[in-house]
Amino acid sequence: MKSLLWLIVLLPLHAFGNETDAYQSDRERLLEEIRHDFRLTAPMIGNDRPDPKVEKALLEVPRHLFVPPENRSLAYHNRPLPIGYGQTISQPYIVALMTDLLNPRPDDVILEVGTGSGYQAAVLSRLVKHVYTIEIIESLAKLAKVRLEKLGYHNVTARIGDGYYGWKEHAPFDGIIVTAAASHIPQPLVDQLKPGGRMVIPVGGQFLTQSLLLVEKNDQGKVTTRQLLPVAFVPLTGKH
Ligand code: SAM
Repeated sequence: MKSLLWLIVLLPLHAFGNETDAYQSDRERLLEEIRHDFRLTAPMIGNDRPDPKVEKALLEVPRHLFVPPENRSLAYHNRPLPIGYGQTISQPYIVALMTDLLNPRPDDVILEVGTGSGYQAAVLSRLVKHVYTIEIIESLAKLAKVRLEKLGYHNVTARIGDGYYGWKEHAPFDGIIVTAAASHIPQPLVDQLKPGGRMVIPVGGQFLTQSLLLVEKNDQGKVTTRQLLPVAFVPLTGKH
């Protein structure tokens, strides 16, 4: 009996198919709202619907398990939520958009700067080979690491650190996603992007207009930047 209890404790949560099913219709409704926002922003983005595989990932990942218990009832509202330490889990539409803009492919290795709750990393992990994610706030990084392991997202590696400098040991990356607003595009991240790779990053001051940028490095290593839409992110902190 004792060993059976341990087995239950150690099983990843998604092994319990029904545990998350209670929220399936909430996720479907949320996806409709995300599609609605895509249509509204299509003139700026050039795309009126997320890729079906991105939609599938959004339907699979249990956002309610990435927010503090007191906010669980709001988990499937299309809005950012506090996750403690003055930080937020991004709005689901923004997660969908940034994921879609990366154009993730099954063999890709992605770097995320700003693990936060781990939700964005979990969504990406359904679409690519591996996600490396860095969080500067130690307590958040530790919480996210445990959560991702417990939920069975084994192709995500998380660490504490200043993501401004990227993660040299695992570079170059097929894609880089920065989920905090930087004052400029960090050169170490540009350097760690593969030719043919994409980076999605909000740039701008905390109290000034921020823009979501799509940075592309072509096969010859030439970098181009497209400004897509105004956004509001917490700032990229650190000593850089
Ligand atoms: N992607 C997260 C999620 O899915 O929950 C949301 C990220 S939240 C909007 C931005 C995160 O970036 C915060 O947790 C913040 O602590 C982190 N951050 C800010 N500056 C950072 C830096 N220099 N390096 C790594 N993480 C940073």
